Amino acid sequence: MLDKAPDGKVSDLLNALDKALSAGEVEHAVDLFQVDCYWRDLVTFTWNIKTMEGRDQVRDMLKVRLADTKPSNWKIAEGEDASEADGVTESWIQFETEVARGFGHIRLKDGRIWTLLTTMSELKGHEEPVGFDRQMGAKHGAERNRKTWKEEREAEAAELGYSRQPYCVIIGGGQGGIALGARLRQLNVPTIIIEKNERPGDSWRKRYKSLCLHDPVWYDHLPYLPFPRNWPVFSPKDKIGDWLEMYTKVMELNYWGSTECIKASYDEKSQEWTVVVERDGKEVVLKPKQLVLATGMSAKANMPKFEGMDIFKGDQHHSSHHPGPDKYKNKQAVVIGSNNSAHDICAALWEAGADVTMVQRSTTHIVKSDSLMELGLASLYSEQAVQAGMTTAKADLIFASLPYKILHEFQIPVYNAIRERDADFYKRLEKAGFLLDYGDDDSGLFMKYLRRGSGYYIDVGASELIANGSIKLKSGVDVKKLTEHSVILSDGTELPADLVVYATGYGSMNGWAADLISREVANKVGKVWGLGSDTTKDPGPWEGEQRNMWKPTQQEALWFHGGNLHQSRHYSQFLSLQLKARMEGIPTPVYGLQEVHHPG
Ligand SMILES: Cc1cc2nc3c(=O)[nH]c(=O)nc-3n(C[C@H](O)[C@H](O)[C@H](O)COP(=O)(O)OP(=O)(O)OC[C@H]3O[C@@H](n4cnc5c(N)ncnc54)[C@H](O)[C@@H]3O)c2cc1C
Repeated sequence: MLDKAPDGKVSDLLNALDKALSAGEVEHAVDLFQVDCYWRDLVTFTWNIKTMEGRDQVRDMLKVRLADTKPSNWKIAEGEDASEADGVTESWIQFETEVARGFGHIRLKDGRIWTLLTTMSELKGHEEPVGFDRQMGAKHGAERNRKTWKEEREAEAAELGYSRQPYCVIIGGGQGGIALGARLRQLNVPTIIIEKNERPGDSWRKRYKSLCLHDPVWYDHLPYLPFPRNWPVFSPKDKIGDWLEMYTKVMELNYWGSTECIKASYDEKSQEWTVVVERDGKEVVLKPKQLVLATGMSAKANMPKFEGMDIFKGDQHHSSHHPGPDKYKNKQAVVIGSNNSAHDICAALWEAGADVTMVQRSTTHIVKSDSLMELGLASLYSEQAVQAGMTTAKADLIFASLPYKILHEFQIPVYNAIRERDADFYKRLEKAGFLLDYGDDDSGLFMKYLRRGSGYYIDVGASELIANGSIKLKSGVDVKKLTEHSVILSDGTELPADLVVYATGYGSMNGWAADLISREVANKVGKVWGLGSDTTKDPGPWEGEQRNMWKPTQQEALWFHGGNLHQSRHYSQFLSLQLKARMEGIPTPVYGLQEVHHPG
């Protein structure tokens, strides 16, 4: 049979790998890899999130980790077949280690491994209670003073954090904290989520009125509970807020709303955190073993300091505090910035009848939403992908299997095609004075997101308003100062203003560690996010993975979680397994703990 040939190739390779690894023959194993190979490991071998690039790094890792890991049973994943195209043979694979079951993906070139992805699916003996292991729910039989599910939940809510300490505390109950909390609940890791807003979903509700998700529904599912099939493609912010609130309830999360974390410190001796929170006005001290900061990478507002801000008589605020356009009809608005928030806010103000000027200080990458959906995402996250049998889990893993080091090479052709398709659109924007870029190496939006988390707008209509002059534009200038009633730009232009919105982005998440723990710990863990690509706002050296996200940091028992909905869903699996293993006392020797190159 034609399609058996690729199966045979992958099986032969996996058998050889199994044999070499079982025999501890590192050199034989290394020999099965291409010279320019990539092995991305999500927790199975390294207890880390790490990509080994090239044979030397594969060899180094195996020398340290093979004996402990004891991998076995490598095979093509059950129910799957290998496939072949353009000289690359690829397949889903499964394997085991001493303590876990793993799932992964392999690509072969010329009979050797080009890319290998190994991910932890579950810890042996600590599987989630699904399928045949589903909980009964009801307790059949008769028993005096038995507690109902509701009474048990109420008792847990009353005890946890007071008479009984959680193993883990998550600061921040946005989608990141909630997704991780759901996974930890399934793994039976006692956890409290601390959120200063009143209700789950409020971090979306409180954003500007016109906001809808920029990513489509197929990319946005939460763990365990996908959106229904009639859910809109782009979720309005209040609708996603309601979904998160419902999710928090039905996933039985211990969610402390209206609770602010004031400070946290780690005692190296007792290996325990002291986390001081204020719950409904009362101080509560928590003593978890693990602390996760899920405080948002788009939450620590970068507020610029311009001369004259103190004397400006109109309204002024960071985009994260923009209430929406309603009270600015017939008013003059100046929006500083040219990324997503700036565009959305400008468009909403224009719709409400304000006179709007956008101040573009540096180049911006623009991609039309429909082009991004069709050319950038459709093969993995779209209705067509679903109809063709693509699942969310597989899409996430295919994405994860593309090594960061060469990801831009896969992205450049996509954005070249988009540039060609939308050439007229880009021309008209440039004619209006808009300064475009496509990323430092033309690799477009997703690389910008991974490298710096900013620098782009997914166009859902505002670009047309800029092209046709409805939204006025001042580009290539900076703000010199504010007066009582205007903004003065570096070229001398004076923009009369009743409102100034600073759509100036967000700071690194280790700023949260400085606020809540100490500057010393913040510096010790260093910058959060970015790949070290040596491109704008992502200084080198090359890190190979996103700094500090979802993996051990230089501060023991401190973790960072977050990202977009896709990342929150996908990486919460690996963070939850790292936490569960620690709770169960399973040894978790971390291989290749990241060095800190950027403390600030
Ligand atoms: C305008 C805009 C549009 C976006 N569009 C998308 C999109 O389409 N798709 C997407 O996936 N992402 C989008 N994002 C990114 C979005 O911010 C993140 O995806 C998402 O909000 C991150 O979730 P999170 O849980 O990590 O952080 P957040 O939602 O920011 O949640 C962090 C939470 O921590 C809480 N917190 C902080 N400090 C404390 C403390 N000391 N004590 C208690 N609680 C605290 C905050 O109140 C907040 O609720 C967008 C972001 C912005 C700003």
